[in-house]
Amino acid sequence: MTDSQRAAALAELHAQLRACRKCLEAGYRITPGPVVHGVHTAKVMTIGQAPGVTEVEAKRPFNGDAGRRLFQWLAEAGFDEAEFRATQAMLAVTRCYPGKSPTGHGDRLPTREEQALCRPWLEHEIELINPRLIIPIGKLAIGLFFDPLPALEDVIGTQIERDGRVIIPLPHPSGASTWPNRPDNAARIKRALKLIDRQRRMLGL
Ligand code: SF4
Repeated sequence: MTDSQRAAALAELHAQLRACRKCLEAGYRITPGPVVHGVHTAKVMTIGQAPGVTEVEAKRPFNGDAGRRLFQWLAEAGFDEAEFRATQAMLAVTRCYPGKSPTGHGDRLPTREEQALCRPWLEHEIELINPRLIIPIGKLAIGLFFDPLPALEDVIGTQIERDGRVIIPLPHPSGASTWPNRPDNAARIKRALKLIDRQRRMLGL
């Protein structure tokens, strides 16, 4: 596939994704209107959990406080936020806002069925974009690459290779999570960011 064919195929895929209402049709009370992001030339792809309400309103992944923390981390790995957003790909396990958690704390975790309904979009985008580095962010995304899902302590600060791609996980940067604040976990995140920085240099970014 030529470069322009790949660009056209991704644009077509994104148009179909924007029109997707599969979870609504399956009875889930999501807010329809997926958050779609990424260019076909991206070498780095982040995969988050699901958009929050601010992401859906702005149509921009990691738009709120969690995004600020994420880009503070990525800055340590040498990435500029504006350039990263313009040239890389920021995807998620599910793309529509799942609504508030029934407990009232934070957003609802997408169900396994919703994740499965959304998975083909993600797989197709990975195939078309063909990133060299994937950064799964948070347990739901990390679980796409590590089965069974290990404890965060065992996986943050490490990298694996899958299908010729490097996978370097990060914890979810939500302010609601205290995991990153523990000194030993902060050291794990620093190790992960060093690994990401090394990949960034190898990719010439
Ligand atoms: S979450 Fe994914 S599968 Fe579900 S409606 Fe949105 S885009 Fe479609």
